[in-house]
Amino acid sequence: MDKKNNEFETKLIHSGTIKDQFGAVVTPIYQSSTFSFENADDGADKFAKRKPGYIYTRIANPTIQDLEDTMADLENGYGGIAVASGMAAVNLVYMGFLKAGDHVVASEAVYGPSRVVLEKFYTQYNVESTFVDTSDLQEIKNAFRPNTKLLYIETPTNPTMVITDLKESAKLAHERGIVVAVDNTFSSPYLQKPLDLGCDIVLHSITKFINGHADVVGGVVVAKTKEHFDHLNSLMILTGANMDPHQAYLVRRGLKTLSIRMDRAEKNAMEIAKFLELHPKTEWVAYPGLDSHPQHELAKEQMSGFGALMSFEVKGGLEAGKIIMDNVKVAVLAVSLGGIETLIQHPASMTHAGMSKTAKIEAGITDGLIRLSVGIEDVNDLIADLKQALDKV
Ligand SMILES: *Cc1c(COP(=O)(O)O)cnc(C)c1O
Repeated sequence: MDKKNNEFETKLIHSGTIKDQFGAVVTPIYQSSTFSFENADDGADKFAKRKPGYIYTRIANPTIQDLEDTMADLENGYGGIAVASGMAAVNLVYMGFLKAGDHVVASEAVYGPSRVVLEKFYTQYNVESTFVDTSDLQEIKNAFRPNTKLLYIETPTNPTMVITDLKESAKLAHERGIVVAVDNTFSSPYLQKPLDLGCDIVLHSITKFINGHADVVGGVVVAKTKEHFDHLNSLMILTGANMDPHQAYLVRRGLKTLSIRMDRAEKNAMEIAKFLELHPKTEWVAYPGLDSHPQHELAKEQMSGFGALMSFEVKGGLEAGKIIMDNVKVAVLAVSLGGIETLIQHPASMTHAGMSKTAKIEAGITDGLIRLSVGIEDVNDLIADLKQALDKV
């Protein structure tokens, strides 16, 4: 489509939109599990792919297709595959590129379940995994084995905001014929385009910034080549990982405002990061937009913005962290991220409370670490809220 040449914000609004017989301005919700054929030949032609058209919603659906085409367009990929959740996207990639006897190298601080599923379930199928600090290219190189088939990167990582050089990592992997997949959930294609940097596959939990309104769980995989797309799309159909049309409609609607949501959240995040960094009750602030971030220069080069996520260490450890949690009034105490509302969470007392001390140290989870997903509220209210909570420590 000629839309390929459009600027990002125009794509956000117009990409993928299907023209129907009534001239609907947005793609309607085609809440139908199956689609009728004109006659026997029509059905035969559609099954044989001699004729375009829809057959059955697990295979393809116009509302879902709208979202998939838009995501492929935004990430500069060949095709998108929308799935039921971010974890369905992660597993589609793992299943698609790993078979018995294969090995995967992954970022040590990947989203928890993305690591757990490899350690707990893929080992049952004789797939091995090594987790390294992918921000150190030497560590990636050392981890590669002759049977390594996939390099799986998350950047920036959660909640430590460590950044991996995607261009250089992709080069290292491609020298050895290894596929590179990137979980781009934290940045969205508005701030980072892994396929343009040489990676092969991008995936998202679209529960987060893509949808942006904390009302849908979903995922998407975008492949750069037709070969990878056809392979993963057929796996999606056969495993039944598909998204639902209503889910796709809501996500496509939320996606239209991605750039203005991101711009506002990032502006708020920068001000909050600066406020926290100067506050006497904080030890440090990890936000890629701060000069103090060890990979600030790489972030500037690789990303077109620093995003809305940060973590900071409150002095006083576990107890101090809990005091902040119990006293914030505007920020909402909840996991997840990337919505228009500011969410705050304290891994040591919440998400990572069950983790062993060594595992926590490995993942960079300290007792006073607090993660913020900054929303689009008035920044003065957010800063005043954090200030009064910090005053109680
Ligand atoms: C939330 C998240 C996931 C998992 O997505 P779900 O939609 O919850 O299944 C994967 N990766 C990252 C980075 C996430 O933040």
